[in-house]
Amino acid sequence: MKNRPSAEWLALPESQIALIAEHQGIAPVPVGAIAKSLGLAVKVATLPVDISGEIKPDTHASAGFQIRVNKHEAKTRQRFTIAHEIAHFLLHKHLIKDGLTDSILYRSKLTNKREAEANRLAADILMPWSLVDSWRTGLKGVDIRSLAPQLASYLEVSEVALKIRLGINGVEE
Ligand SMILES: [Zn+2]
Repeated sequence: MKNRPSAEWLALPESQIALIAEHQGIAPVPVGAIAKSLGLAVKVATLPVDISGEIKPDTHASAGFQIRVNKHEAKTRQRFTIAHEIAHFLLHKHLIKDGLTDSILYRSKLTNKREAEANRLAADILMPWSLVDSWRTGLKGVDIRSLAPQLASYLEVSEVALKIRLGINGVEE
């Protein structure tokens, strides 16, 4: 288990880290509130079935962008998508231009390398190690695999996203 934040997280300005960390004290991490505090508008919308979310210019939002997530996807999935779009805003703002649309595989007009960056930062936003570690206190001897369903529900993330985060089931982070 690579129990440390991503390079993308560590490269953020301290002010942004502080702003996000302020919301990470209790689970589930309020990803909508994080977006709002960054000045982003968030809308749950009907999007095409193969689209999970998007971020596009919005003159009414103070940061200049709005995030839309597909209302037909599971809540846990919507939460990850919002975190993923926040990550695009933090890491790739200059590349958003007239909008970025993410497929259900989190593929967009950006390169897969940039999509992987957004996924890693999204994991740091939604599943901070501080919460994982404090939840595991007293459960140290227990195999993390058997705890994954409860931990995923505690963090309100999908088991798939959690397992990638924990580097279990042979999936590399
Ligand atoms: Zn993306």
